[in-house]
Amino acid sequence: MTQAIDRPQTPALSTRPNFTALRCKECGETYDLGPKHVCEDVCFGPLEVVYDYDAIRRQVTRASIAAGPKSIWRYKAFLPVATDTPIDVGTGMTPLVKTNRLARRLGLKSLYIKNDAVNMPTLSFKDRVVSVALTRAQELGFTTVSCASTGNLANSTAAIAAHAGLDCCVFIPSDLEAGKVLGTLIYGPTVMAVNGNYDQVNRLCCEVANTHDSWGFVNINLRPYYSEGSKTLGYEVAEQLGWQLPDHIVAPLASGSLFTKIHKGFQEFVKVGLVDDKPVRFSGAQAEGCSPIAQAFEEGRDFISPVKPNTIAKSIAIGNPADGVYALELARKTNGNIAAVTDAEIIDGIKLLAETEGIFTETAGGTTIAVLKKLAEAGKIDPDETTVAYITGNGLKTQEAVHGYIGEPLTLEPKLDSFERALERARTLDRLEWKQASV
Ligand SMILES: *Cc1c(COP(=O)(O)O)cnc(C)c1O
Repeated sequence: MTQAIDRPQTPALSTRPNFTALRCKECGETYDLGPKHVCEDVCFGPLEVVYDYDAIRRQVTRASIAAGPKSIWRYKAFLPVATDTPIDVGTGMTPLVKTNRLARRLGLKSLYIKNDAVNMPTLSFKDRVVSVALTRAQELGFTTVSCASTGNLANSTAAIAAHAGLDCCVFIPSDLEAGKVLGTLIYGPTVMAVNGNYDQVNRLCCEVANTHDSWGFVNINLRPYYSEGSKTLGYEVAEQLGWQLPDHIVAPLASGSLFTKIHKGFQEFVKVGLVDDKPVRFSGAQAEGCSPIAQAFEEGRDFISPVKPNTIAKSIAIGNPADGVYALELARKTNGNIAAVTDAEIIDGIKLLAETEGIFTETAGGTTIAVLKKLAEAGKIDPDETTVAYITGNGLKTQEAVHGYIGEPLTLEPKLDSFERALERARTLDRLEWKQASV
């Protein structure tokens, strides 16, 4: 793990932290800043962190943020942790790549990839939410942390818990990709592989969280803090675009949380005066085999009907999405779209991004690229819009998905004539001419 990362240099907060309460998103009831996630006194709605934006406005400037650590902690004033020494394993500040060949292929003029396939330490956007959740878990006195995961969250929780010296027990569906399982076990947590889908794993974890309340479940009792980590996907894009908002974003939807938090991140930057306000369109991507939010969007419903997932895009296979209605509302009110693509289109999306930009993403990223392509072809993305596609995970973790779809190496003897024959075969296969021909 990277040790060379700058420790946060934020000056000690002389007064109280900037986050002040938890508040119900539905009825507005407020709660103290404990390990709570539902409005248990009134309506059972989800709780969200409330901030003192006047205090934040007085503390931060573009320059003070730019002078901060090269990680999500440059935005600490906007995150729900009180400590001056958060767990910093180099999470965040991933590249925002201006695409060239992909943009041309899709007929777009200003297309960027936010590349969390190379996030630290475990190569997915989940490192953002877990860095925040485990820092808060320590503040709240937890020594054991846990989660219900579709794969990436388990990788992240196990790795960052190892770094922080926390005990860790993660729950995953038993049919996950080998890379996701290995990428968790290596950090030495207890891994519970449950015979069931993610929604069943999550239900079990809710019961465990109730009966073992000394455990901090990052996406259950710590969920209000955890989910705030996704706001950094919004902050970074705004900063990397030169302190401006994009016109359109495309992101994958599982629970719908990251999608809505990118919006919250943009709005907060507007609120404290770091960027100018402007309309940003929000478009979401799902796999057809698990598309409860896309179906509701398509049918003009304002409620989500849960589905049973059946797709290769396991990291986003949540049949009963906790933030589904909020994601739906956001896409509608910003004049965006939510679309679904088949598993075959997802594989093509993975290959398209790899072959045009040199970025190998997992199935969630393949879903995002396939939906981006579909929307671009349908004229639902204006070629002149500055569009950002969020790539949230790394392809080396879901190798099974592309087995059999990417060809084989040409095998040869270490002799020149053998090479010449191999080159002939390569020409027959049209490999070498492909790039020039297709752009
Ligand atoms: C978890 C995950 C998502 C979706 O996150 P939500 O906030 O639940 O919508 C997207 N991409 C990848 C790679 C993930 O692991």
